[in-house]
Amino acid sequence: YRRMLGMLKDETAVSTDGVRVHMMANVELPDDSADAAEVGAEGIGLYRTEFLYMNRDETPGEEEQLAAYRRVLRSVDGPVTIRTLDLGADKTIGREAKTSSNPALGLRAIRLCLKETDLFRTQLRALLRASAEGDLRIMLPMISNIQELRQTRHLIDEVMAELRRDGLEYDPKLPVGAMIEVPAAALAAPQLARYCDFFSLGTNDLIQYTLAMDRVDDEINYLYDPLHPAVLQLIRMTIEAGHAAGIGVSMCGEMASDKRYTALLLGLGLTEFSMHPASVLEVKRAIMGADVADLKRATREILALTDAQSYRDGLDALSHRLV
Ligand code: PEP
Ligand code: MG
Repeated sequence: YRRMLGMLKDETAVSTDGVRVHMMANVELPDDSADAAEVGAEGIGLYRTEFLYMNRDETPGEEEQLAAYRRVLRSVDGPVTIRTLDLGADKTIGREAKTSSNPALGLRAIRLCLKETDLFRTQLRALLRASAEGDLRIMLPMISNIQELRQTRHLIDEVMAELRRDGLEYDPKLPVGAMIEVPAAALAAPQLARYCDFFSLGTNDLIQYTLAMDRVDDEINYLYDPLHPAVLQLIRMTIEAGHAAGIGVSMCGEMASDKRYTALLLGLGLTEFSMHPASVLEVKRAIMGADVADLKRATREILALTDAQSYRDGLDALSHRLV
């Protein structure tokens, strides 16, 4: 079975009815990108930069970050989507406000970066400089309103002007996108799309915030439910809003890597998946056996069901379609 999967490495993911799907990889450490190349990922859909900052005393400087970003860019063919610092809540370095009684709802991710702008500027400078050397994209975590996008764009413009003054190169057209991982962002997606070059669905947090269940609290992890009708509704709205606005929509949360959900996600119109390299070939295989038009029909019918049991049964049948 593994050998058979290995043979899919260089194949393009196309469904039986001709829908082209992009298979990207998530990486946490620059060296993980070797695994991404090994499974034939078409690029990096999520590079989690907080790991550069964790388990050390000082924050990494511009040159160190630049070296790390360049390394990832060189290690894979295709676009590399680098997420700006997503610290706070489940990912801490001790710099965040300790007084927050509710860290997941507190000063984390983009909120922390927009407050500690020196920290953010250093990262943006490194990202922009790296963008001169490859297809780099910037992805912003935990966006919940337009203002955060405007402020970030403004900072990026300032950093670009600075780099020009310093005689340093960057890609002036570098795409900037938002993670959709807060229900407010999914609900406001048609408006956010006007300020974004792409969306990426972060289902780990989207599920946590939609279902009001702390993702790191073992007492309530039974509430974690990617198939909850509210979660699927938000995913569907995000995909539709992105496509209506003509921007790409990918999914980089864990849900994208589970082949039990592949039929459903194709049925919802998702055509860009990003996941741990270890899952890429399995999910690709499922996609290559799928009839997307048929899955869209089935998904639409299931999501319209108001009887909870029929809804679950429908999704259960769908989860077995491609495995
Ligand atoms: C997510 O929230 O789905 C996500 C991809 O980001 P993280 O798991 O790093 O919060
Ligand atoms: Mg997240």
